[in-house]
Amino acid sequence: MSPQEIEKLKSKLLEEKKILEDELGRIANEDTAIKGNYLTRFHKAEPDDTLDEKAHSITNYEEERAVEQTLELRLQEINETLKRIEGGTYGICEKCQFPIEEKRIEATPLAKLCLSCAKKLKLT
Ligand SMILES: [Zn+2]
Repeated sequence: MSPQEIEKLKSKLLEEKKILEDELGRIANEDTAIKGNYLTRFHKAEPDDTLDEKAHSITNYEEERAVEQTLELRLQEINETLKRIEGGTYGICEKCQFPIEEKRIEATPLAKLCLSCAKKLKLT
């Protein structure tokens, strides 16, 4: 990947990071104990809530927690990729230290492993 392409990817990732953080901010609080971790806010049931409303807020919480976890994982991946870009190790396989195949990087820009290492990991 050329430096220009990496720059382009970086600004794309920064943009997505901002969107993810906004989304997460709407449904979750940032964990003060663990950096980068988010905790889904629980909408407390009111004492005069009907059973139906109570059930609804639990379902909501579970749905939001699932969404939160997906967003959080994606955000972590993006942060890791940004770190690798900054450190100049972007596009290098984390395991064997060889460059990741150009085709693979194009298809999955967040890939950390080359094709053969990824395959090996899936087998074991
Ligand atoms: Zn590898």
